[in-house]
Formats: sequence, C-alpha cells, structure tokens
Amino acid sequence: MSQDPKNPTKNMPTNTVSEPSNFLRQIIDHDLSSGKFLKRVDANGLELPAVVTRFPPEPNGYLHIGHAKSICLNFGLAQDYNQLPTKGRCHMRLDDTNPVKEDTEYVDGILDAVRWLGFEWKENGREHLYYASDYFDQLYEFAEKLIGAGKAYVDSQSADEIHSKRGNFSAPGQDSPFRVRNSNENLVLFRAMRAGEYLDGEHVLRLKIDMKHPNIMMRDPVIYRIRHAHHHRTGDRWCIYPLYDFTHCISDALENISHSICTLEFENNRPLYDWILNALKEIGVFTGPLPQQYEFARLNLTYTITSKRKLLQLVEEQRVDGWDDPRMPTIVGIRRRGYTPESLRLFCERIGVSKADSWIDMSVLEQALRDDLDVKAHRATAVLKPLKLIIENVDANQSEACSAPKHPNHPEWGKREFHFTRELWIEADDFMIEPVKGYFRLFPPKGDQAGGRVRLRHGFVIECTGYQVDTNGKVSAVTANYFPDSKSGTPDSNNYKVKGNIHWVSANEALVTEVRLYDYLFNDPNPDSGDKEFLNYLNPHSKQVITAYLEPCMKHAKPGERFQFERHGYFIADAIDSKIDKPVFNRSVGLKDSWKSI
Ligand code: ATP
Ligand code: MG
Repeated sequence: MSQDPKNPTKNMPTNTVSEPSNFLRQIIDHDLSSGKFLKRVDANGLELPAVVTRFPPEPNGYLHIGHAKSICLNFGLAQDYNQLPTKGRCHMRLDDTNPVKEDTEYVDGILDAVRWLGFEWKENGREHLYYASDYFDQLYEFAEKLIGAGKAYVDSQSADEIHSKRGNFSAPGQDSPFRVRNSNENLVLFRAMRAGEYLDGEHVLRLKIDMKHPNIMMRDPVIYRIRHAHHHRTGDRWCIYPLYDFTHCISDALENISHSICTLEFENNRPLYDWILNALKEIGVFTGPLPQQYEFARLNLTYTITSKRKLLQLVEEQRVDGWDDPRMPTIVGIRRRGYTPESLRLFCERIGVSKADSWIDMSVLEQALRDDLDVKAHRATAVLKPLKLIIENVDANQSEACSAPKHPNHPEWGKREFHFTRELWIEADDFMIEPVKGYFRLFPPKGDQAGGRVRLRHGFVIECTGYQVDTNGKVSAVTANYFPDSKSGTPDSNNYKVKGNIHWVSANEALVTEVRLYDYLFNDPNPDSGDKEFLNYLNPHSKQVITAYLEPCMKHAKPGERFQFERHGYFIADAIDSKIDKPVFNRSVGLKDSWKSI
C-alpha cells in the first residue's frame, strides 16, 4: 500500500498497541505493517528498533507545559511500541546549534524535567542522550559534499539583501549574483569562513534549490552563518554554525530516527527536510529509509503562555519570582506548585494529539491533578481566614483528644490526632450575623430563634450563643456551647442532626504558618493571541500570601509533601522555603472549579 503524502492516514490498518489511537499511531502501525523501518542496523551493527522517536529541545530556556505534551508523546510512543517485538525507543537530544542563547544551566534543567516526568533515555545500559553540537564535524563535512555536488553556494550578500530578494507569497525571489560561483570557489570560501577569516555576516552558505519555489522555505535557504561566539560545549572551536533546518534533519538521520514528530508550525519546513536528506542520499551519505517528519498541534493552554521567549521576559523583568515561580507554566514552576508527574501524564493523555490547533482549558489540567491527588493525598485541616471561636462551656485547661483518618478511603493509613479546647480557629466565612436563606453554619440567636448549630468536623456539635466585636465594630470572636455527648465516632453522636459541618483547629496547638494562594497568572484566557501584548493581561492578584492556622501534625510536613486541606483544595509544602518544623504551603489547586474559598 503506498502512502498518500497529503493524507498519510488514509487506508491505514487498525493499530496494534492497546493505547487510544491517534493519527500518529496509525502512521506508525502502517509503517510497521509495511516493514519500512524493520531490520535496520546502526553503525555498530546493532539491530535498531522499528520505532525511534526523539525529543529535541533547544537549551535556551526552561521547558514548559507545551513541551510536556511533546515529551509524553515522543517518549510515550516509544514506550508503547517497545512492548512489541519490533521495539521502540526515544532519544533525548539537545538541539544546541545557536551559541548565543544557549547555556548548560538550561541543559541541566531540561534533563531534570524530562526525568521528573518519568521518562528515561537509557536502554539496555546504553544512554541515548545526544547533542546536535556533537554533529558539527559531520554537518560541516556534508555541507562540503553538497558544495561539491553543486547543491550549495557561498553567498556574500548582506542579510538585508538576502531577505529583500526572497520575494513573498505572491512574488518570486531573485537569484543572488553569487549563485553562479563554481564549486571550487565555494569550497575555498567556505573553508576560509570556517578558518575565521571573515567577520560575522560577511558570507553565508546557502542551498541551491529554486528562488522561484512557491514555498519560501525552499528559496535557497541559508544553512551556515558566521558567528564568532563561544559555544557552551564546543567552546571556540567553531566560528560558523549550522542553522536549524540543516541540523535537524541530519541529526535525525544520523540517529536513525524513524518518526520525527514536531509541531504544526514546521509544516512548511517539511519539503526542505526531505530535500536535504534526499540530496545527501543521492551523494551516498545516507542509505536505507530516511526519517519522516510529522506535525501535530501544539498545546495552547488558557490563562497562560507557552513561549520560552515570553517566559524569559517574565523572569528577566521580575514579573514573577523566577523560572520556578509556582504560577509559571514551566515544568519547574508547575512542579513547585504541587503538580505530580502522574497528573501531567494524565493531562497529556486526556488532551490527546490532533492535527488542528486548539485551546485547552486550564480546568482540564487542574482536574487531572485533583483526580490524581484525591486518591493519594493525606487529608488535613487548615484555617485560611481565621476567626476565633470560644466554647464557653469548656474550661481554659480542658482538652479533649480527637482524631480523623489520614484518608477517608484508607483507614489502614492511620489517623491524625489533635485536641478540642476552649479557644479554636474557624473560617470567618462560617459565621454570619444575619444569615442568608439556606445558610446552615454559625449565626447568633435572635429573639426565640436559637443560634446556628454545626458539627465541628471530627469533633463535637456546637450551638452559637453570640459574638464579640472589637473597637472598630468588627467581629472579633464567636461564642458557642458544645454538647459533650456529641463527639464524632461515639454512639450518641448520631442523636444530633445538623446540616452544617465546619472545620477548625485548636488555638493552643495550631501551626501558624505562611500559605501562598495562587490564581491564574493572566486575567485573559488568551493573553498572547492575535497581536495582544501579553504583559497587559498579567493578573495583579495571582499571588496572595496569608498566615494560616493548620492542624498540629502539619508541623512535620516534609518539603514536597502534598495534602488535601479539607474544604480548601490541594496544597504542597514548598520545596524551597520550608524549614524544619515550619513548612510553608502553596495551594496547587482548589477542590472544584467553582469553589473559591478565599
Ligand atoms: P518556544 O517557541 O517556546 O521556544 P520551541 O518550539 O522553540 O518553543 P523547542 O525547544 O524547540 O521549543 O521545543 C522542543 C520540542 O517541543 C519541539 O519538538 C517542539 O515542537 C515541542 N513544543 C514546543 N512547544 C510546544 C507546545 N506548546 N506544544 C507541544 N509541543 C511543543
Ligand atoms: Mg524551537
């Protein structure tokens, strides 16, 4: 069955791995059934997997949630197809050919993020970690071969001249006057470029394709430029650097990639990808089946941005507290916010892959975290907006031991212990002087109507007797009486039927600590769509720092440990700012979409 390049999924057989199908799996299944990448061997004579993908970020920033989609896709496909006898693997590649913007700090951050997401590039003890800069020698050699074959030439026009002669969608480009240079002349010049005999911008190397090609990418693209710059790995060895389109397809071919998956904006680069590899195949550089590029829709997530350049701007202009600010869509930020690798993988699985660009609602990401943490996060109590509650029929030195399960569905995980005392903290929202209709929490008695009656979760039933105000007329404390025979878990507790159920902590033993409440970084769902200036849509209320009262066992929360604070949402003990016995917490996500507790 031959493949229709415009519609490669036409007439595809059903897929052979049990994951949900998508157009990429269908393409791979088709290639497997046609035997396209079977029985290949690498340079050492080792048999190659039939599915070899790669994740190739440029180390010019930290990875973001969009990259997570690409990581889950590329590493996920390799993992799934590795279950088949024909095998699969994914290469981790740093696409580091631009010396000016790249840095080892970013390399380390990228590798760390991919590992944290749960993927590795080791196979049978062999590391599949590659750097495009490791191919500089081969890329140079291939460029010389293309010159020799009359398929590349040195152009000595300025960047502006080259640009202005490229034409546009409606007008063809014009040939450079240097296009007619012969191979020998080109070779001498190219070698002199490499030897450092020219300044930046004096010459470039271009492919000789067609200046009238309908696809502008094919109008003699530049493949090498002079840059007297220090490279983070090759130092000062090179002063000419290859460009993306030349490097990328050759790196894929050298690594025996079978399916080179990238985002849709590279669709127009595909003919160039194929042109370069076919030209090198003709010269005899490559043999066997060439890798093929396929495009999928990038992830666009509402209320945030996924552009490294713009994220860098937020960091450099100190509009956030760094790359790992919990409001950032970077993987380090999301991780510090409290997201788990499982929740990100679940999110990527739920959004799937498609060929049409779309926006994914932030609530899909948040729900994935809730679904993951609901079953594993220990429960705890936190009062975020405190109001004092005084139980008048409890003595100042009285203390009743109470407990609650760490997880409602896992009694075997044990219990948390705390005490009921005369002075407690409750949420300010759990009291109203004038209760609105349907308000079943605390309110003072009025006329012959009794005060509000509620159960203090995992404690006693209480009835409100009144409240105190400070000199400004603000409620400073609520007073109540408790019913000694109403303790949760005791036989008589069922005699009390109350509609309200509120949380509390003892003022004697609460952990008083910092809690950070985060909201969306932007107040517009699509802050950088069209020609919008994204900085105009920063949400001024995206971070709120409060002092909260937490149940006593939270003192021992370890940095990075996650909890559900009942009625409030999921929180993580901050991995950086927490101290021994004094953790500080970040709110990862609320309990449900509509619940804004504060
Ligand atoms: P940016 O424009 O933010 O710098 P990029 O595409 O230049 O992103 P790379 O480091 O080149 O970043 O990306 C590595 C891989 O991740 C590429 O294959 C790219 O297509 C993919 N990728 C980048 N952004 C997204 C996204 N939003 N959704 C899905 N994949 C993405
Ligand atoms: Mg890129």
